[in-house]
Amino acid sequence: MGSSGATPGTPAGGPSAPGRQAGGTPRAALAELLAGNRRFVSGQPVHGHDVTAAAAAASGDQQPYAVVLGCIDSRVPLEAIFDQTFGAICVIRTGGHVLDRAVCGSIEYVVGQLGVPLVMVLGHERCGAVGAAVDALRAGERPGGSLSHLVDEIAPAVIEAGLDDPAVHPLAIRRHVRRTVRTLRDDDLLAGPVAAGRVAVVGGLYDLATGEVALVDPA
Ligand SMILES: [Zn+2]
Repeated sequence: MGSSGATPGTPAGGPSAPGRQAGGTPRAALAELLAGNRRFVSGQPVHGHDVTAAAAAASGDQQPYAVVLGCIDSRVPLEAIFDQTFGAICVIRTGGHVLDRAVCGSIEYVVGQLGVPLVMVLGHERCGAVGAAVDALRAGERPGGSLSHLVDEIAPAVIEAGLDDPAVHPLAIRRHVRRTVRTLRDDDLLAGPVAAGRVAVVGGLYDLATGEVALVDPA
């Protein structure tokens, strides 16, 4: 975490956009985030070539416009797939984007203290954490250690998807994104700003094959 800063400005090396300001609208922030993914998919990133210490230093005070909660999967580096520069987005990664108090507190901080209008929960195809929950439920064996927390948090999505369904893994991935979105929308400190329309919590799904992020319908 760091200072929210008070000096507006364009992040180094990138175009200015209405969404790229803390305190902007959720809609503009989402448009900016998805535009970054399109740049990544098209092989024409603005920031992909500029991952240097100089770019980091030029970011100055941070003014993030979105926070993305994603999985730890090594194939899904969030700043890269959204083509974001230093200071633009806050990133949280846990196995299967599972929530705990530290994660929720971090999101509350970003929204409440930094004025960020958009929270995206990003799942991805072939998620190993969701797969581990499927395996644990099929075997009827809960893993030991803290890994049990991940399995316990993902299990309801697997059960909703139907353990006997051949497509349980991809179905559970989508359901788990939706469940995580709903939990965050109901969070004590987020529910008010969400109800007022100042903050949006959305779900997305990353396609490992194409690099595309598609929004997940909240229904
Ligand atoms: Zn994963």
